[in-house]
Amino acid sequence: LVRLRARLARSQSTLGKGLLGLLSRDRIDEETWEEIEDALLTADVGVGPTEELVERLRTRVRVEGAASQDHAREILRSELLTLVGTDLDRSLHVTRTSTNPAVVLVVGVNGTGKTTTVGKLARVLVAEDKDVILGAADTFRAAAAAQLATWGDRVGVPTIRGPEGGDPASVAFDSVKAGVEQESDVVIVDTAGRLHTKTGLMDELGKVKRVIEKQAPVSEVLLVIDATTGQNGLTQARVFAEVVDVTGIVLTKLDSTAKGGIIIAVQRELGVPVKLVGLGEGADDLAPFEPAAFVDALLG
Ligand code: GDP
Repeated sequence: LVRLRARLARSQSTLGKGLLGLLSRDRIDEETWEEIEDALLTADVGVGPTEELVERLRTRVRVEGAASQDHAREILRSELLTLVGTDLDRSLHVTRTSTNPAVVLVVGVNGTGKTTTVGKLARVLVAEDKDVILGAADTFRAAAAAQLATWGDRVGVPTIRGPEGGDPASVAFDSVKAGVEQESDVVIVDTAGRLHTKTGLMDELGKVKRVIEKQAPVSEVLLVIDATTGQNGLTQARVFAEVVDVTGIVLTKLDSTAKGGIIIAVQRELGVPVKLVGLGEGADDLAPFEPAAFVDALLG
């Protein structure tokens, strides 16, 4: 975790340093506020949250006067924390009941890092001594199930697969059935991220969810979003959030962008907490999202 934090800090500190520098100027004029706005927008914080933050910062500077470097840090820390949200439930619901495994459905556009996230998450759960089964319900791409099975082997958990081009819902059903029969703790179902039409997606994910729920409730629906795709990725993600009840967001590839502000924009847009962040391609590069650690990393 320490190593991951360091990586997050490296990629994100540009924004924090910029903001700190601007806010601790002797004289903050309109131009400075514009620069602060620009810095936030450039970091993908999004228009609404940027306006809100700048408004709050303006008020504080008006009331408290020009800020020293330390004071500026304190102001930014508390206001950014408020914006990120410290009271959201970011815990993963992955505890089996007496009769059922917990079921985690992982959704999102292809290429965002869904399969990789499933593999990493399995690794985390296995390290917690949980029995995990993976379900390869992305039956549309030939390589997808194979890629997931490779992760399964790597992490040491079984992967349930179906025939290529087969019914994703049937693979989801078989995976959860195996989980019930084998008294597993968690079944993680990887889904196809084809953004064809909204109704097509809705039918597909709806069916997958329905057949799972014939056997066990879905305890988490994780929406995977690629942090490097910025507002574009957000637009695509919104479609998923509209067709399925998302319980948490996984923001991947945060190691590859300096635009950590996307965390704020994503939560605000979708009304769902970021629960996990992806910080690399390796098996151990998944971390719980901790607002305080994130803001501290940002401010360097
Ligand atoms: P899927 O199509 O959504 O299942 O996406 P994949 O899991 O196949 O991932 C797409 C690419 O993104 C792969 O090359 C992954 O190694 C890479 N990737 C996934 N997560 C991360 C991350 O957190 N950081 C980085 N740098 N790359 C990632």
